[in-house]
Amino acid sequence: MEKDINPGIIPGDLTIDLIGEVAHYLEYMSDIGCSGFDCSDHCLDTLNTWSQQSPGGRETLSNIREDLGDCRRCGLSKYRKQIVFGEGDPDARLIFVGEGPGFEEDKQGRPFVGPAGQLLTKIIAAINMTRESVYICNIVKCRPPENRNPSSDEAENCKPFLIRQIKAIKPDFICALGSVAARTLLDTTKSVSMLRNRFFDYKSTRLLVTYHPAYLLRNPEKKRDVWEDMKMLMNAMES
Ligand code: SF4
Repeated sequence: MEKDINPGIIPGDLTIDLIGEVAHYLEYMSDIGCSGFDCSDHCLDTLNTWSQQSPGGRETLSNIREDLGDCRRCGLSKYRKQIVFGEGDPDARLIFVGEGPGFEEDKQGRPFVGPAGQLLTKIIAAINMTRESVYICNIVKCRPPENRNPSSDEAENCKPFLIRQIKAIKPDFICALGSVAARTLLDTTKSVSMLRNRFFDYKSTRLLVTYHPAYLLRNPEKKRDVWEDMKMLMNAMES
């Protein structure tokens, strides 16, 4: 049953965390195809307006990390040493999204710090940026055992937090690294080769797909394609 929300009434006792949680949960339910309740754009915009007007202002990455807590929302929590939330500039114009932490990331609690991370650092330098000037995170924040791909359930459980990170940062561009990131964000089953070399509109942000650095380590001949994608990204960011 749909209930209308009056945008003129701002409940004083609702905190920004609660408002944000309701908005993101409704959006998540909408994304996975649920219906029978009000998850319309109007409702989400109204909740967002409340959130902006609440005493805490715009949701911050710290708010989201705090809300994530010692997350046990999916089975990956059993295998992790620590949650790898993400790092970088909270006002970054560009976010890189990978699939999940690996061995080194799990150990250090930082994203992309193993061999694939070193390659990503070089890719970022090649577009005249630094790790500190972008934001780097993953679809899932806990390491899948033996570095397997996260399941779609695991990705969907973690996705609301990623979406909140993106909303808090408000980047102009997102670069999805690899098929898991691309498929989860774009809700598609297409391969990276079919998705790369173009921009998608993702919640008012321009999203580019390219190969994951770990894939490049196994398939160095694909580095040329990634460089083409990065040149496209660089040109778009400069224009
Ligand atoms: S992967 Fe995400 S949803 Fe699953 S336990 Fe870790 S933080 Fe929670």
